[in-house]
Amino acid sequence: MIKSDRCLINNFLVDCMKCNNCGEVLFTPNQTKELIKLREANKKIESQRKIITVGSSIAALLPKKINDYGIKAGLIDTVRILSKNSLEIQFKKEIVK
Ligand SMILES: [Zn+2]
Repeated sequence: MIKSDRCLINNFLVDCMKCNNCGEVLFTPNQTKELIKLREANKKIESQRKIITVGSSIAALLPKKINDYGIKAGLIDTVRILSKNSLEIQFKKEIVK
C-alpha cells in the first residue's frame, strides 16, 4: 500500500509517497515541485558559516540571503540533531513555498 511519508532525497527532507511493502518512493507532481524549489532555495543560501560565542551561548551566523525567506531574529522554533553531522532549525511557518 502506498502511503504519504517524509523522505530524505539528495539530503532534502520532503513529502513523498512510499510503498510500505517494497519501500519504493514516488512523488506527486506537487511533491516534485517542492523538491525543485528546495534545491533552488538551497543554491542561494548554501555556504560555510561561522559559529560564534555570544555571552554564555553560541550562535551560528546565517547568510543574509535567508531574509528573502522571511527569516528574522527571534523566529526560531526548535533546534534538534538531524543526523550524525547535522542540526535542524525548524520554523513554525513554511520558509519555502
Ligand atoms: Zn511496493
